[in-house]
Amino acid sequence: MELKIQNLTKTYNNGVKALDDVNLEIGPGMFGLLGPNGAGKSSLMRTIATLQSPDSGSIQFGDIDVLNDNNALRRVLGYLPQEFGVYPNLSAEELLNYFADLKGISNRKDRNKIVESVLQITNLYDFRNKSVSGYSGGMKQRFGIAQMLLNDPKLIIVDEPTAGLDPAERHRFLNVLREIGAQHTVIFSTHIVDDVRELCHELAIMNGGKVLFRGSTQQGTDSL
Ligand code: ADP
Ligand code: ADP
Repeated sequence: MELKIQNLTKTYNNGVKALDDVNLEIGPGMFGLLGPNGAGKSSLMRTIATLQSPDSGSIQFGDIDVLNDNNALRRVLGYLPQEFGVYPNLSAEELLNYFADLKGISNRKDRNKIVESVLQITNLYDFRNKSVSGYSGGMKQRFGIAQMLLNDPKLIIVDEPTAGLDPAERHRFLNVLREIGAQHTVIFSTHIVDDVRELCHELAIMNGGKVLFRGSTQQGTDSL
């Protein structure tokens, strides 16, 4: 499904204009949102995820008028924020079963199947009996992806997921995203050019709340 963002603006109470007439169309696949700290990436992601309201503009995802029907969007959204979650002392399998239950997947057989499949996709299956609170940062990020995939989201938003990951963890994490990007619409925000080069067919470059470039990753990163 197509995500269409039109004339989006946002000025915070402190006078910072974080979104300055943002226009973007994003189709299926892995889309990169590249920009330095303060560019407005998180503001844009939080707005798409209906966590905050813009001053003006519109967002359409397929048939969904996102800003006027937050609930419809939330039902099809997977959102992975930047911070690692704090988890109770339960194993990955226990926690995923719990979250699946919360999401209304109450049939035990269905649940087991879905939990196993998201553990496989995120390469955490061998660690399913370990406590998530003891996971490394990279594993917690992949656990976040597993949790997000439980209800089969149609739009996935991943905000600066590789910040603070060591190279091996980063590599594992990008591999998981690559696989997911083949089947979903994924928006991946980062300030790391190589993240986008490795993963995304297309990107937008943001700075000062504006989209400065939108096009192929090759062209966009060559222009930097
Ligand atoms: P990025 O994700 O690219 O680092 P942000 O969207 O977080 O960019 O920030 C864009 C600008 O808006 C920055 O100048 C930032 O300091 C400011 N900003 C972000 N969130 C808030 C907020 N809740 N209140 C005030 N200013 C904010
Ligand atoms: P590599 O050298 O390819 O990283 P190792 O098996 O030597 O693989 O693992 C190094 C560390 O990374 C170990 O602590 C291991 O538990 C951890 N690790 C290996 N594979 C995974 C994975 N799929 N997910 C999380 N951690 C992993």
